[in-house]
Amino acid sequence: MYRDLLSENLPALRDRMAEAARAGGRDPGDVRLVAVTKGHPLEALQAALEAGLHDLGENRVGELEHKIGELDRDDVTWHMIGHLQRRKAPRAMEASDLIHSMDSPRLARRLSRVATEADRTVRVLAQVNTSGEDSKGGFEGEAALERIHEASELPGLEVEGLMTMAPYTEDEAVLSGTFRRLRELSERLRSLTDAVGPELSMGMTNDLEIAIREGSTMVRIGTALFGERDG
Ligand SMILES: *Cc1c(COP(=O)(O)O)cnc(C)c1O
Repeated sequence: MYRDLLSENLPALRDRMAEAARAGGRDPGDVRLVAVTKGHPLEALQAALEAGLHDLGENRVGELEHKIGELDRDDVTWHMIGHLQRRKAPRAMEASDLIHSMDSPRLARRLSRVATEADRTVRVLAQVNTSGEDSKGGFEGEAALERIHEASELPGLEVEGLMTMAPYTEDEAVLSGTFRRLRELSERLRSLTDAVGPELSMGMTNDLEIAIREGSTMVRIGTALFGERDG
């Protein structure tokens, strides 16, 4: 079933992405597709790999660990995209290749400590609340710049860029404003420091065109690939 779904959905999604890139004057090759497999069974992950998708995203550490164990493949780049509790920092570091959801100074310090104790580095994106919604996590407001700058100087942390989630709306102006604020924050940070990388993780099924036009380097897509999730 997932194989059939992907044979229809993946080319359509690639077209949407390429068109948006061209509309934004960008190279389609500069936007990475992270296939979000949360809530879907192993079969979905296997179909994704068969279709050439090797960046897989999960939003829960337990589900991520379980799927890594079941899938037993070493050619996957695992993305942790969901809110991460500080006590699960060691497990998230072990299980994933890139944590998109470093959403507070406290989590940054914890990840730094866990990484240095293990004598390694952990690759992260700083999640920013660019919509101002209370329901969204992330670094916020004017303080975000300074706080992310500080986090980028912690030992053991490799801040490869920023991530945001847009509000649930179809209002294009609201969506593009949300994404543009992330890009502008990235530009300001990167004029201050070399320690923050250029990645911009933004864009999901409903807003990927706008995110790509605003400079996304990584879209996180579930529904457009695998259909609706239960719950
Ligand atoms: C579920 C999820 C996605 C994918 O959302 P779709 O609308 O299904 O494409 C992307 N990012 C995060 C953080 C998610 O939790």
